[in-house]
Amino acid sequence: MPLRPPPILPPSFVPPYLLDRLAERASAPVSARAANTLMIDREHRGLREFLAPRVSSGVAPSYTKRGSPERKIYNAGNTTQLPGKLVRSEGQTAIKDVAADEAYDALGATWRLYHDIYERDSIDGAGMPLTGSVHYGKDYDNAFWNGTQMVFGDGDGEVFNRFTIAVDIIGHELTHGVIDHEAGPVSQGQSGALNESICDVFGALVKQHLLKQTAQQADWLVGAGLFTSWTR
Ligand SMILES: [Zn+2]
Repeated sequence: MPLRPPPILPPSFVPPYLLDRLAERASAPVSARAANTLMIDREHRGLREFLAPRVSSGVAPSYTKRGSPERKIYNAGNTTQLPGKLVRSEGQTAIKDVAADEAYDALGATWRLYHDIYERDSIDGAGMPLTGSVHYGKDYDNAFWNGTQMVFGDGDGEVFNRFTIAVDIIGHELTHGVIDHEAGPVSQGQSGALNESICDVFGALVKQHLLKQTAQQADWLVGAGLFTSWTR
């Protein structure tokens, strides 16, 4: 009987092997939250394949200098229903929800890098609106790009902080969207490893561009602040 290929994992920020380890070895509450995160990740796997855009037609995207992105931030209200309730649109001031405001700023910083340095208008190179949902799931320990939007968990507060805490996490995940539109490599094996490393580099570049740092000045640390000081 021919072997079936392993399922293609969604490009979530925390890899499943790390969550598996927590689910197996950590104490009860941490373990349960990691297992719950894995279950949610498996549920949205199929959804992501369905939502993933086809590779671009090969026609060069047109560059229009719009000067700003088009962002929409939603609050999923600790459910897994997407996108949730719209809480902040482009041009509106901060709403005093840390996760929502960080997501808004980081989506903007990522758009800004691609716009200013690569003359690319958004994920698809054609002005795609940038949508993010915060407060996804309950104690959900991950963030992901589902093919059309960004999704952020609050973290469990014990091992993981909120997933909007580091701008390069958002830069990393949105770069999955850029790669989907440009090349569409399979997210596993060697192409999956290449995919992840390219996203890490662009995540770091988003942070450097935002902080106006040179490569020498940058710390090149992806996801700073995401982990708490938790020890097993
Ligand atoms: Zn990734």
